[in-house]
Amino acid sequence: MNGATTSGELRAHNRVRLLRAVHDCGATRTRSQLTRDLRLARGTASVLVAGLAEDGLLHEEPAAEHTRGRPTLVPGPHPDGPVALAADVREDAWELAACELGGRVTVLAVRPHDGTPQDALGPLGEAVAAHRRRLGHRVIGIGVALAGPVRHHGLVDIAHLNWRSVDVPALLGLPAPSQAEGGSSAPGVPVIGNDTAFAALAEARRGRLQGVRVGLHLHVDFDPGGVLVVDGHPVAGASGIGAELGHMPLGGGDRPCLCGARGCWAMDVGANALLRHVGLAYGGGRGREQAERVLATSQEAVRANAEALGRGIAALVNAHDPEVVTLSGHGVELRERAGAALLAACEPLLMTIRRDRPPRIEGSALGWRGSLLGAMESVFDAFLTTGGLELWRKDHPDQGRDTPDRQSVTHSTLGGERPL
Ligand SMILES: [Zn+2]
Repeated sequence: MNGATTSGELRAHNRVRLLRAVHDCGATRTRSQLTRDLRLARGTASVLVAGLAEDGLLHEEPAAEHTRGRPTLVPGPHPDGPVALAADVREDAWELAACELGGRVTVLAVRPHDGTPQDALGPLGEAVAAHRRRLGHRVIGIGVALAGPVRHHGLVDIAHLNWRSVDVPALLGLPAPSQAEGGSSAPGVPVIGNDTAFAALAEARRGRLQGVRVGLHLHVDFDPGGVLVVDGHPVAGASGIGAELGHMPLGGGDRPCLCGARGCWAMDVGANALLRHVGLAYGGGRGREQAERVLATSQEAVRANAEALGRGIAALVNAHDPEVVTLSGHGVELRERAGAALLAACEPLLMTIRRDRPPRIEGSALGWRGSLLGAMESVFDAFLTTGGLELWRKDHPDQGRDTPDRQSVTHSTLGGERPL
C-alpha cells in the first residue's frame, strides 16, 4: 500500500504519518484520537510517540480539560523541535516568522522597504541569517512568499515595482534551489514562491478550501492574483508561474497595465485601483495606508472595485467550475463592505447552467497570514518525509546535549495574535 516492506520502513512511514497528523490538526488532537485516526495499535502509537519525543520532534502536554483518571495527552511541538522560517515579502514591507510543528507562528521581525530588490531582500537575508544562527539546528528550512511570478531557481518579476528577473536567493545570501544537493529540503535552501499560490495552499490546508476538490483562491493586495486549487494543490503552471489571474483582461477596460498587457484585471481590482479611482498616485508599492483609508471611507471606490472583482469571478467560474471561491487580503473587506454589489456584478455574467448552483464566495479564514502560512507549509512538506526526518535524526544524535535558545520562540496562535 505504502511501499514499506520491512518493519524499519513501516516505522519510518508511521513516524511521518503521525507527525503529519499532529501538524495538520494544529496540535489539537489527543494521542488516543490520533491513534484512532491513523488506525494504529495503542502500543505502536506509544512507541512512536516515545521515539519522536526522544528525537526532539514531539512533546506531549496534558489536554486543557480532562475528566478524572489518567490525564489525556496532546502531542505537539517539542521545545527544541523543528522550526520553519517563513517570510512574506510585500511590495512595501516584509514580515519574518518562526513556525513550529502544528503551525504556531511567532513573528520575529517586520520591516518596511523602499520597493527596490536590494532594500527589500538584503536586510531580510541578514535577519534570516541572524535567526538561523540563534535557533541553530532547529531551523529546517526557509520559505519566502513574493508578490509576483517566481520562476524556477527563484527569479521573480514584479511589474509594478519594476523588478525584472530579480535573483531572490542571491540577494538573500542563500543557495539557489538548483545548486544545492538534496533539493529544497536541504536546510539552507529557500522555498521561494508566489504569495497568491502560498495563500491558496494555506487555505487548502487550514482554511476554507479544506476538503474542497476544485476551488479558486483570489488574493487581493495592490493587485489581484488568483489560482485554481485542485485536490488541495494550487495549479502552479508548467514553469511555476500560473497564479497570474490579475493579468487577464477581466476588468472590461483596455488601459495599458505595467505588466505590458492591456485591460488587465489589476487595473480595476486591488489597492492600486482604489487609489486610481479617487485620483491618488498609485504604483510602486506605495500608498497602502491611503488605500486603506479609501477602502474605509469611499463607498463609490469600494463598489467599483467589488463590481470589477465580481465580473472577473464570473468569467473564472464559467471557465473552471469551482465549488468555492475564497478571497484573501483586501478581497475579504471588499466582500464584507460591498458583497451585494459584488454578487450583482457576478451573477448576470454566469452561464445560465451555473446560476442554479453558483459557487460560494467566502472570505479567507486566515486573514492576511495566508501567504506566510503557505510558505511555512511548503517547508514542512519537504521536512515531513522519511528522508527529512532521517536528516534531522543524523543532525541530532543527542537532543539533550546542546540547548538552542528555547525562550526566543514563544507561542502564539495560528492567527498570531493571542499568546498562549
Ligand atoms: Zn497586467
